[in-house]
Amino acid sequence: MMAAASPVNLFGLDRTALRARFLDMGEPPYRADQVMHWIYRRGMDDFGAMTNLGKDLRAQLAGHFVIRPPELLTEQVSQDGTCKWVLRVDARNAVETVFIPEGSRGTLCISSQVGCAMDCSFCSTGAQGFSRNLTTAEIVAQVWFASKALGGNFQTARAISNVVFMGMGEPLANYAEVLPTLRILLDDHGFGLSKRRVTVSTSGLVPFMDRLREDCDTALAVSLHAPNDELRNELVPINRKYPLAELMAACRRYTEQKDRKAHIVYEYVMLEGVNDRTEHALQLAKLLAGLPAKVNLIPFNPFPGTEYRRSKLEQIRNFAGVLYAKDILTTTRKTRGDDIDAACGQLVGRVHNRQRRRLRDIPVHTVHS
Ligand code: SAH
Ligand code: SF4
Repeated sequence: MMAAASPVNLFGLDRTALRARFLDMGEPPYRADQVMHWIYRRGMDDFGAMTNLGKDLRAQLAGHFVIRPPELLTEQVSQDGTCKWVLRVDARNAVETVFIPEGSRGTLCISSQVGCAMDCSFCSTGAQGFSRNLTTAEIVAQVWFASKALGGNFQTARAISNVVFMGMGEPLANYAEVLPTLRILLDDHGFGLSKRRVTVSTSGLVPFMDRLREDCDTALAVSLHAPNDELRNELVPINRKYPLAELMAACRRYTEQKDRKAHIVYEYVMLEGVNDRTEHALQLAKLLAGLPAKVNLIPFNPFPGTEYRRSKLEQIRNFAGVLYAKDILTTTRKTRGDDIDAACGQLVGRVHNRQRRRLRDIPVHTVHS
């Protein structure tokens, strides 16, 4: 006898996939839309309470599906209101999700992988290695969980106005699971966020930047961190595979057919004595000249074992000033939640490292031939 299939977690199905399941059960597609509405707009995880569905259908749904958020391991609230949750995704692994309130806005920073294989030299997630990709259900459930935890009414007064893929992991290295997640974030029956309020942040996986442009076209942030290949190879090792010329060409393509307001945010971590000199700022200005770009300078957030130091405020100001003088819009990211280790690059979760080889160990010439 075959074992019964385990129930499917509805957080993993976007509207197209859910409608297909409903058709298989002989139900019209609009029923799927109603269920999504209950889950994402009303914050419901109990089929029994979905009162506009017939009793039989509710029972059938409860037999086929679950609506299961991850288990909360810890919750920490920073003095500045930033919240960090550590969520268990399986027996060995946990990920972090961070909420950053800012006036009338609230940004949720979500994880897409357990750990990260990109091995950027200044990032604590990278330093932990890589365990596995998160599933769509595990990524979507972070947003659902946070909305509930923040007590937001899902329909009005929504606590979460923006979602950024700036937690653990490289989202474009997990494209197959991230794309349905984006669809649920943007869907009117899902979280109903607009494209410009959902930001995918990437270290520069060029082929997937092109796919994202075709498939979903959300806001994009690119982790640049260095204005020349020599330095970027060292800081962001994926640069050996997709060097700056290719990356910048992909960035150009990403905004090409969009309206005039569309731009890419270039993230640049400020590392004392490494990438923060005037000459770097001048190189960066040259690299971005003529592109619809904003630069976001991120003061480095230290973590145990790192040899990097945060650039002095004076140096950050000088760097921003050079860019500004070249007409490049530049902001400096406020460090939030650092008293609870919730700042950029400090997210570690619990990672069972299954990766053997480190990207940084791959010789340049064998990767980029
Ligand atoms: N993997 C994706 C998204 C997650 S990291 C990416 O790299 O874009 C989100 C941002 O935090 C990235 O720009 C990343 O480079 C930056 N970051 C990583 N470690 C950091 C640290 N220790 N201090 C400051 N920013 C860091
Ligand atoms: Fe991965 Fe982003 Fe950290 Fe690089 S900066 S190791 S891509 S999470």
